[in-house]
Amino acid sequence: VQGRPVFEARNLYKSYGGLRATDDLSIQLETGKIHALIGPNGAGKTTALSQLSGELRPDDGQVWFDGQDITRFSMPWRARMGVARSFQITAIFDDFTVAENVAVAVQSRTRHHFSFWRAVSRDAGINQRAMALLEQVGLGGFASRRAADLSHGQKRQLEIAMALALEPKVLLLDEPMAGMGPTESNQLAELLEKLKPDFAILLVEHDMNIVFRLADVISVLVNGAMIASGSVDDVRDNEDVQKAYLAEG
Ligand code: ATP
Repeated sequence: VQGRPVFEARNLYKSYGGLRATDDLSIQLETGKIHALIGPNGAGKTTALSQLSGELRPDDGQVWFDGQDITRFSMPWRARMGVARSFQITAIFDDFTVAENVAVAVQSRTRHHFSFWRAVSRDAGINQRAMALLEQVGLGGFASRRAADLSHGQKRQLEIAMALALEPKVLLLDEPMAGMGPTESNQLAELLEKLKPDFAILLVEHDMNIVFRLADVISVLVNGAMIASGSVDDVRDNEDVQKAYLAEG
C-alpha cells in the first residue's frame, strides 16, 4: 500500500564495547520511494543496514516488515520474505555466464515451492525468467557472456538482476555506485529510477549528486544517531548536517 511503511526499524541500538554504532535509530521505507541513508565515515550506515538485512542483531529495538516483527529472523529468511540486500553479499560466479548466474538466483527462489509437475517445465521457465530479469536491468545483450568479462558497472547490474530474482519488496542497497565512473553510475541511477515504483528502496551512498538526484527522503546519521531526516531540500539546508560534513572534510 502506497503511503504506509512496508519496512520499518524502530529504535535500534547496537554497541561495540563503549561505542554506539547505532543509537536509537528509527527509519521507515515506503513502496515507490527511495530513502537515502547518508553520513560521514564511521557514522554507522553499514551497521544500520546489517541490522535491517538480518546479518546483525540489534542490542535493542525492532525491525518490522509487512506488519510483522522480523527482528529475530535470519538474513536468508528475510531474503525469502522479500527483503533483499545487494552489492556486498551477492556472489557472482565468475566462470558462469551472465544468464546462468541469474538462473541460479531464480532457482534458489523456486526451489522453495517445488512440485513434481513444476519440475517438468522448470528449466525452460527458469531460463525465461532469467532472460526477462536481464532485459529489465539492461543486460539482455550480455546473457551468454562470461560473468568475469563484464565491466564493473555491468556486474553491479547483474547483482541487481540476481536480487530481483528473489522477488523482493524491499531493496537494501549498500553503496551501489562505489567504484563507478560517471557513465556507469548514471546508467545505474536510471535503472534505480525505473525500478523505484515497485520497491521500497534504502540507498546507502557516498555520492551526493546521486543522492540528491534519486532520494525522496534523506536521513543523516552521525555517531550512530539520526541528526536529520526529510526531503532533499530540508536536509541540504540543515545547519547540523552542513556542520557534520564540514567537520569531516
Ligand atoms: P563508512 O562510510 O566508512 O562505510 P559507516 O557509516 O558504514 O562507515 P560503520 O561501518 O557502520 O560506519 O561503523 C560504525 C562504527 O562502528 C565505526 O566507528 C566502526 O569502527 C564501528 N564498528 C563497525 N563494526 C564493528 C565491529 N565489528 N567491531 C567493532 N567496531 C565496529
